[in-house]
Order: sequence, then structure tokens, then C-alpha cells
Amino acid sequence: MNILVINSGSSSLKFQLIDADTEELIAKGLCERIGIDASQISFTPAGGAKQKKQVPMADHREAIRLMLDVLTNPETGVVKDLSQIGAVGHRIVHGGEKFSGATLITPEVENEIAACSDLAPLHNPANLIGIRACKALMPGVPMVAVFDTAFHQTMPEEAYLYGIPYRYYEQYRIRRYGFHGTSHDYVSKRAAAVLGRPVEELKLIVCHLGNGASVSAVKYGKCVDTSMGLTPLEGLIMGTRSGDVDPAVIEFIAHKEGKSIEEITNMLNKESGVLGLSDGFSSDFRDLEDAWEKEKNPNAARALKAYALRTAKYVGAYAAAMNGVDAVCFTAGVGENSPIMRTMICGDYLGYLGITLDEEANAKRGKDMVISTPESATKVLVIPTNEELAIARQTYALIK
Ligand code: ADP
Repeated sequence: MNILVINSGSSSLKFQLIDADTEELIAKGLCERIGIDASQISFTPAGGAKQKKQVPMADHREAIRLMLDVLTNPETGVVKDLSQIGAVGHRIVHGGEKFSGATLITPEVENEIAACSDLAPLHNPANLIGIRACKALMPGVPMVAVFDTAFHQTMPEEAYLYGIPYRYYEQYRIRRYGFHGTSHDYVSKRAAAVLGRPVEELKLIVCHLGNGASVSAVKYGKCVDTSMGLTPLEGLIMGTRSGDVDPAVIEFIAHKEGKSIEEITNMLNKESGVLGLSDGFSSDFRDLEDAWEKEKNPNAARALKAYALRTAKYVGAYAAAMNGVDAVCFTAGVGENSPIMRTMICGDYLGYLGITLDEEANAKRGKDMVISTPESATKVLVIPTNEELAIARQTYALIK
């Protein structure tokens, strides 16, 4: 059965069509600048060339209609008609405390997703628009919601509560939720397979290092701690997000510069991280690494060093949280592709875990692999994440 996986953002819509039986990608694409000028759709059938065209898209419903048109186009499409799409899996950012797994979308589930919107005001409303547009254009096709927060719902209270008055949790459900859950779940299971051991026997630390970045502690197959919090702002230094800061910084800047809380939160989300630390040089690790290697750029060096230290500190914290660790796994854009960053994190800071990297293996990319030496007491793995495949699997499992 073919499963369409949809990730609907405020002005974009990413999609993949996956054959859930063979787990092969059939096609993928992206609608960009929905509702603004110069909207465009790109579409790549597996093994084929990328097609791109500018088409006005006033809203998500038009974007989804265009997506279905390119998928079913008699000349350049990949399926004959919509009957060849068995189900749709929607990536939903926030499931609050309601959802600890994928769920079939019913009107009640839509209401629950809407109710989580004040926890994810940028994401959940956009996710819902995607669901509703799909339902209108694909009546009768089962839809499944797969939540970014679900995998982290196994965290114990002592990990998810903040050290603030308990009534804030009781009244508003202010707590740590964690994100990238689909990736942490997928990578921890793949890592166990690569190590040839049941995930139920392993203590794993997964470092999802992309533009957004988070670490999680996965003990015996269940998440017991993760670095993102109520929102994706907490934890690691990221591309443009600050990660952990003393909350008093907000008041301090507000007084010094007369800024509003919203302005400062926006700065913490969009102008901080390695972009901010490099004094605006770049949020892209390829630029930073290049500038550091070629010209010893001090702005790039500062950002990369702070990023590596913060990540290593979380690994140390999670080894403590699990009272041990069998393997550290790297995934996502930076985690999969940057031997330099993996060396900075493991080589400079994780020797006490008995970690030694196999430099030759570390220089490779693009596949599941162990990059530590056979003697390394704690193993280090690179596992390319595949959130779309994980969503397709969960969708298929639910509707089968
Ligand atoms: P997201 O899904 O959060 O947007 P990705 O997982 O795609 O992010 O990761 C994007 C990041 O990966 C970018 O900051 C980019 O710099 C980094 N990246 C991609 N390729 C490389 C590479 N070869 N070396 C270093 N960093 C890389």
C-alpha cells in the first residue's frame, strides 16, 4: 500500500509517497511560499529528475490539490489515480499529554490537536490546515496523526517537571514535552539493530543534530529524558535557537533595550544559536566549518566550540540519568554529515566514557555505521534518520 506522508508548515508543505510494503520512496516534493508571492512546487520521482514550477497557491488546499495533480499526472506522475494512495500520515508537532503514539484522525482527534495549539502556536494550526485540506480533497482515505512529542511521553515526572511551583503544571500543563520524537524513536531502534542487540537491553543516547537539535536518553527502548522542553527552544545550542539560557537574561535585555518579551523570544529563536554566537556569520555548519578550517575564522570557531561543549554536556547528563550508556548515536544534518563536529564532541569530551573513534569510519557518511573502534567501551554510531519512513510505518501499522 502507498502511504502519503505530509508535513504541513505555515507557508510550506513537504510530502513523500512511500510504498509501505517495500518501504521504498516513490516520489517526494515541496510546496513553498503558500499564501505569499512566487509560490512554487517541486517534485522528484524516485530515480528521476527534479521538476519545479511556479504556480500561485493561495492556501494549503490549493497546494494539496497541486500535489495530487503532480502525483497523478499521466505523463510525469507516479500513480494512476488517488485510489492508489491508501492512507495519509500527517506529522503533527505537539500532542501535549494526550497522545503517546500515532492515532487515527477523527473529529475528536482534530479537536485535541487544536487544543494543543497554545503549546505550539506556530506549528499545530498549520498541521491542522494540512489535515483539513487533505480530508476535503481525499474523502474516505484514512488519515493518521504522528506526533513529534509522542515518543517522549514515557519520561518520568522527575525528568519532565520544571523546578517551578507545581500549580503551573496542574493549571496549564507547563512541563517538558520534547520534540523530534519520531527521529529519536527511529534512530534508537536502528541503532539496536546495527548493534545486533534488543533495544530493551540498551541504554542509548541519541543526538539529533540538525538545524533544530535535541538529545535524548533512551533506556531499554523508552525515552527517559530529552533536551527540548515546553517548546523546541530549550536544550542544545542550535542553528538559530539559543537552547538553555538563564531565564533572567530576558528581563535583563528587556530593561537594557526596552524590548518586549515577544521580541526577545523571537531573538532567542531566530537570531541566536551558532548564528548569534558567530556574530551573524552563518547558521549553516558547512559555512562555519569551512571558515574555521580555511581561515581560522574566530567567529566560526567560537560558535562551533560552544556547540560541541553544550552537546557533550548533555551526553554526560544523560549517561548519569540512565546510570550508564552503551552507545551514543548521531543523526540529522550535522550529526550525519560532520566528522569534525563528531570528533569535537567525542574526542574532546567523551574519553571518560571509554570512547575512541575510528577516524576512517568517522570520515564516511550516508549510511548506518559504527564509528568507534572495536575496543571503545561505549559505542558511537551514525544513523541517518528517516522521519518520513517512520511516519509511513506507523501509519501503515495503524490502518492495516
Ligand atoms: P532541519 O531538518 O532541522 O532543517 P537538517 O537535519 O536538514 O535540519 O540539518 C541541517 C543542518 O545540517 C544545516 O545546518 C547544515 O549546515 C548541516 N549540514 C548538512 N550537510 C552538512 C555537512 N556536509 N557538513 C556539516 N554540516 C552539514
